[in-house]
Amino acid sequence: MKKSTTKTALIPKMYCNFFGHDYQVTKKVTYHVKEYTCSHCKKQLTTNSNGNLIELTPKFEEINAILERIYNTRMERSREKRLVSSIY
Ligand SMILES: [Zn+2]
Repeated sequence: MKKSTTKTALIPKMYCNFFGHDYQVTKKVTYHVKEYTCSHCKKQLTTNSNGNLIELTPKFEEINAILERIYNTRMERSREKRLVSSIY
């Protein structure tokens, strides 16, 4: 049985359908939240507040950017605290 010609752009998606996505961490937002990209079809996922993987929509990209900022600020503060307590 011969199938109609497939565009090369569809091959990664077909590969993922057969073998599953090959997600790699592309961004560490916080200790618990990370962003993943499939190395074959470039589909992006992120961890939501329940710890489940969901599709990375522009809304979640925005949420992650805010989370990242809060997380970095906290890290900054805890480092200051440690520095202060080591002095006194
Ligand atoms: Zn994929």
